[in-house]
Amino acid sequence: MELIKNGIRIDGRKKDELRDIKIEVGVLKRADGSAYVEWGMNKVYVAVYGPRELFPRFLRRSDKAVLQCKYNMASFSVDERKRPGPDRRSVEISKVTRGALEPVVLTENFPESVINVNIEVVQAEAGTRCAGITAASVALADAGIPMKDLVPACAVGKVSGEIILDLCKEEDNFGESDLPIAMIPRTGGISLLQMDGLMTGEELEEALNLAKKGCEIIYEKQKEALRKRYKGDDHD
Ligand code: ADP
Repeated sequence: MELIKNGIRIDGRKKDELRDIKIEVGVLKRADGSAYVEWGMNKVYVAVYGPRELFPRFLRRSDKAVLQCKYNMASFSVDERKRPGPDRRSVEISKVTRGALEPVVLTENFPESVINVNIEVVQAEAGTRCAGITAASVALADAGIPMKDLVPACAVGKVSGEIILDLCKEEDNFGESDLPIAMIPRTGGISLLQMDGLMTGEELEEALNLAKKGCEIIYEKQKEALRKRYKGDDHD
């Protein structure tokens, strides 16, 4: 399959172009904070609850809140019906999501308690962990949880020998490598970096620069979505 032709990708994008991203804040009435992200064909809801008392008690920490993240992909979110419930992949994504978000959340302000982050993917088309992390940090802010920063995330990869931003499904399936990355813009830190496939050191450097560019654009969209939510008087 020819994935890049004359610098144009299979879905019409340039190498450094993101898919269309739309972020909405405060979409779920019963959650303390929530967000919805449409990212290309991905559709992801995040509901945040807490800080609240953690049960069972033995899981409590006297020095900080426990951040519990749960990533779930609906059975109807992919072409072939996915078996419902947790699997190895969702357990892994839940774990790396927590790792990506924890550095920015002031968990030390809420000892003995829990903050729950529920990520529900209702339509999946590659890049859902990054969409989930992007939405989750906005939902945490919507819940009023003190944070040092938001966490934009996007994938970069190598396809047909080229370094590209934000892989679509075909690129994810047939490309050479895929690196989901989450950033903490204020410090320039990276809180998630995974790699599937191979790259040279030089290519990795190029990929990281491209990811930074993508995350900067997403960061602006996150802030814009929060501003939109809190400048009007339409929230309950
Ligand atoms: P990410 O969604 O973060 O890119 P993966 O690389 O594991 O995570 O998955 C890439 C894509 O493959 C998903 O976004 C989804 O479209 C598809 N996919 C993942 N798991 C399944 C599954 N069990 N059945 C069908 N498609 C799946």
